[in-house]
Amino acid sequence: MHEFSLCQSVITIVLDKAKSMGYEAQAVRQIELGVGQLAGVDIESMRFWFPVAAKDTPLVQSILNIAIKPAWAHCLTCTHDYQLSRFYDACPKCQSHDKEILTGQDMLVEKIEFVTSE
Ligand SMILES: [Zn+2]
Repeated sequence: MHEFSLCQSVITIVLDKAKSMGYEAQAVRQIELGVGQLAGVDIESMRFWFPVAAKDTPLVQSILNIAIKPAWAHCLTCTHDYQLSRFYDACPKCQSHDKEILTGQDMLVEKIEFVTSE
């Protein structure tokens, strides 16, 4: 249930942001979550657990949209930057495994959409 606690942290982040932006938490309509390809997060599991985690919070009506973010690495052998889908992917140019992961290991709340009442 690793994803359940991740959903709980997403909810905490969104509630904090809503508050700091001066919105009611109930006004959160959609949450856009970017998940890096190498973040080790099971997207299906996130989708399953989010409503369960949100049930007793003001985000019970909110929709969670998840976007998978590509991962990039920098080759330490030939300095080529390349996209990778697994940690052990080698550099496509020189086949080296010596690399620095640039992006794709994190999870980020990218956007929160609020219902605006006119
Ligand atoms: Zn290389």
